[in-house]
Amino acid sequence: MSDTDPVLANIEEVRTRIAAAARDCGRGADEVKLVAVSKMQPEEKIEAALAAGQRVFGENRVQEAKMRWRERRLRWRDLELHLIGPLQTNKIRDAVALFDVIQSVDRVEVAQGLAAEMARTRRDLPCYIQVNTGEEPQKAGVWPEDLVDFYDFCHDECGLDIVGLMCIPPVDEEPAVHFDLLRELARLLGLRALSMGMSGDYEEAVRRGATCVRVGTGVFGARG
Ligand SMILES: *Cc1c(COP(=O)(O)O)cnc(C)c1O
Repeated sequence: MSDTDPVLANIEEVRTRIAAAARDCGRGADEVKLVAVSKMQPEEKIEAALAAGQRVFGENRVQEAKMRWRERRLRWRDLELHLIGPLQTNKIRDAVALFDVIQSVDRVEVAQGLAAEMARTRRDLPCYIQVNTGEEPQKAGVWPEDLVDFYDFCHDECGLDIVGLMCIPPVDEEPAVHFDLLRELARLLGLRALSMGMSGDYEEAVRRGATCVRVGTGVFGARG
């Protein structure tokens, strides 16, 4: 068995589990998007995922993503690339050129920069606001109490197409509490999309309403 075979099996298993978790709460499997998080994974595993039919990928660094995906974009026309890591303002131009979805809008400067670059290039990318549901000082994301003002700024002032919210729960806390909080915040703002759930907790996230799960090691194995 080659090193890439597990990727196919993993994708099938993750898809099966997502479908089962969706069914548990009366949702359809097609309501949940699987973002395969390809950061720091070897080339052959990326190719294996593409061969398995996976087309939606997540990356947390713009430069690394550019190396991995710029050429592949020409070969795989139906790719959908999500930026899931913090965006520095000097990377905004590259990010808007490469990605299809920005999941990590979390600061005024990033919102303004994205809006300006999207206007300049006439690319209107769907965006998520990242919420720091655990209020962890070292972690990216808007604090829950600041979310309404920040949403108004992104939407009304900048004209960004904010489709939903994203969170990364604290490692040492029950993720369900954070998933429920994110869902409630999205409901208050009338937002439909919820990006939550990683390898260890994506089924729980689906049961709590995730429309997008971000699975790295569960698809590709441990990062190199
Ligand atoms: C790396 C990463 C993931 C994937 O984590 P796994 O535990 O490997 O599934 C999901 N979301 C974000 C924001 C990440 O940076």
